[in-house]
Amino acid sequence: MAEVFLFQHLMFKKRDRYLMLTVDTEALSHRATDDHVRRLMLGEQEAGTAGVREMVAIGDEFNAKHIFFVDMCGAYDRLTEIQGVIRYLDQAGHDVQLHTHPEKLPASYWETRGFAPRPRLMNEYTTDARAQLIIREFAGLLSEQTGKPVLGHRAGSFRWNASTLRALFDAGIPVSFNNSSVAVKAGQAVYAKRTNWPFEWSNGIIEVPMTERAVFNRVRKDHWHARLTYPESHYFHFRPWWGPLLLNTLSDDLDFAVFLLHSWSFLDRDENGIFYYKDDRKVENYRKMLRRLTKDYDVITTAEFLELQALGKIPLGGVEDVRSAELIVPAIKPKKIKPKTKKIDKTKTEPKPASKKVDTKKAEVKASEVKKPETDKKEVTKVEDKETSKKSIENASESSH
Ligand SMILES: [Zn+2]
Repeated sequence: MAEVFLFQHLMFKKRDRYLMLTVDTEALSHRATDDHVRRLMLGEQEAGTAGVREMVAIGDEFNAKHIFFVDMCGAYDRLTEIQGVIRYLDQAGHDVQLHTHPEKLPASYWETRGFAPRPRLMNEYTTDARAQLIIREFAGLLSEQTGKPVLGHRAGSFRWNASTLRALFDAGIPVSFNNSSVAVKAGQAVYAKRTNWPFEWSNGIIEVPMTERAVFNRVRKDHWHARLTYPESHYFHFRPWWGPLLLNTLSDDLDFAVFLLHSWSFLDRDENGIFYYKDDRKVENYRKMLRRLTKDYDVITTAEFLELQALGKIPLGGVEDVRSAELIVPAIKPKKIKPKTKKIDKTKTEPKPASKKVDTKKAEVKASEVKKPETDKKEVTKVEDKETSKKSIENASESSH
């Protein structure tokens, strides 16, 4: 009998597999025509309702807690309503953490705090003070509602840089959920360690990377990165790349996975980018997906992740220098050059004493990430020019703070 039991135990033993169900909860202005928080966070639409409450309900069916990263910048004029959503999610027993889209804040926000309105995007911040302001202020607003310290942060559109990591340390937020190769490819971030496994930054912040996978594109004959999202990208309309994960046959590196949803993930988008409710298909498919996933994975919150990590159940994959993610701004404004004759050698703009610490393998990854087709190089020149002038404006206006 004992042998039969042992055999069964070995055959059916559940491996330690962890899953984080993250939901970027946001009410961005261009995604609804009115009543943004109700429309885009709660998903209350003309024809039906499908938003964060439905996610909470489905999660509860399978005893799975979501991590709702809530943004308060996108609908700053509706802060009270957003705070209501935060309280609801927290009281429902799900995990509420910080998401930030400061590029959506009104100019008056910056004025009243003595900051220049630009640079708008968090990955373009050239001073730590700017990142500190955003992280501290909105983490504070979040904590006021939940009565708990904020444990994790995800930058809007994964737009972050080294300043973000330092601001997290400054605010006592231990976990960053920002590492993404897709964001680097899209020019939304300057650096990504190519891994799906949690690791540590040199300032002690723990990184939980967005789960992504390189996929070969048969048409373009190159690799691109796909995120673990629900619903799946249109490219995988017929067969999501993570399909095998549901059948428990994808066994290599996905013992730890981070799913990305948005508060509007159960809605459909019209030709103008406005979300609307079509039917309950996405809700039902999500229920089916969670039913399967929860059989093979332990769904964990940020606090549970920290606990497991401290117990050695999720060992971190090495230490990465924060300065690898430094925004590189040329010290001298580059001369206007004819784009045809002058090729931009990104490796020359990478540098920093810190890079010495980065091993060759990482450096290769970084260099390959910034490799772009010829047509894009002209744009790089433009962006850098703009960035240089932005920096001087920024320094001039912020040096006194
Ligand atoms: Zn977002």
